[in-house]
Amino acid sequence: MHGLKKRVLVTGGAGLIGSHLCERLLGDGNEVISVDSYFTGTRRNLTNILDDTCFEALHHDVTVPLQVESDEIYNLACPASPIHYNLHPVQTTRTSVLGAINMLDLAQRTGAKFFQASTSEVYGDSEVHPQPEDYHGHVNPLDPRSCYDEAKRCAETLVNSYRRQFDMKVKIARIFITYGPRMHPGDGRVISNFITATMRGEPITLFGDGSQTRTFCYVDDMVDGMVRVMISPDDFTGPVNLGTTHEITIRELAEEILRLMGSKNKIEFRPSPPDYRPRRCPDITLAREKLGWEPRVSLEDGLKETIAYFRGLDI
Ligand code: NAD
Repeated sequence: MHGLKKRVLVTGGAGLIGSHLCERLLGDGNEVISVDSYFTGTRRNLTNILDDTCFEALHHDVTVPLQVESDEIYNLACPASPIHYNLHPVQTTRTSVLGAINMLDLAQRTGAKFFQASTSEVYGDSEVHPQPEDYHGHVNPLDPRSCYDEAKRCAETLVNSYRRQFDMKVKIARIFITYGPRMHPGDGRVISNFITATMRGEPITLFGDGSQTRTFCYVDDMVDGMVRVMISPDDFTGPVNLGTTHEITIRELAEEILRLMGSKNKIEFRPSPPDYRPRRCPDITLAREKLGWEPRVSLEDGLKETIAYFRGLDI
């Protein structure tokens, strides 16, 4: 088989978080295989590592079974922005649920340790702030977003069921909003929307009065948290929240992006959409205690990197 290096499989390896994770794992001396259908990700995100002899990019849809030997599997494949999953709700649920089954089957056959990229959206329209891991969530199965929220909840259930039935080594991390270079410019998220609107000289549009708060974790911090989860002791399975606790209003975010881009563009206000969520913030006590992890990159530094990335694109 292979030598002393670990062989690590990353599904969704060509996406925002996955491509940074592949680079980090290669930098740590592992062999890395990205498995991606390029549904929302792109081979361009892998440019830095495509020629690395320890890296392989497989074009494969995780809804189809796969046979590849590996020591660890990070399961990230899934459309992750509302624009993508609302356009393709069935494919989103298929990817999250069937993809989890196929990758868990693979992990069971090969004995690989399994990491599931879950999401803060499992908390749904949360009545608790900040959200701790033992909050069970408030999700409407018929809400349009539930193609993602419920599918991610089901994936968590599957991971836990495989662990119980087959005694597998598994981990679940609940990821809160993550941003950085290689965000999809058309993914409709606030940071990419605000930066691309500003680059085009268009006003920034805010829904409601802009007082809703969010937290934004820089991708390098997120990847570091995920690797710490994977190498944590086997009896620590999670779920564990990963995200930053620095809450800012969407209006402050818009003003910060305009300032950093040296723009005098206007901010416009529109009525709130029906799925308006006033606050979203993780409780990361568990990650601090069990992983010694917390985000390090300031919003200003992370936004500067992200703006520089978008300025290099043809927008
Ligand atoms: P992304 O869209 O950039 O990456 C997802 C990747 O999965 C893409 O490369 C896409 O092509 C691939 N993919 C989609 N369907 C596939 C399929 N059927 N088979 C194989 N590959 C497929 O998103 P991201 O932000 O990097 O998110 C990665 C993971 O983290 C996702 O599981 C997402 O749910 C989770 N997450 C992300 C955030 C965030 O703010 N970025 C927040 C919470 C959870």
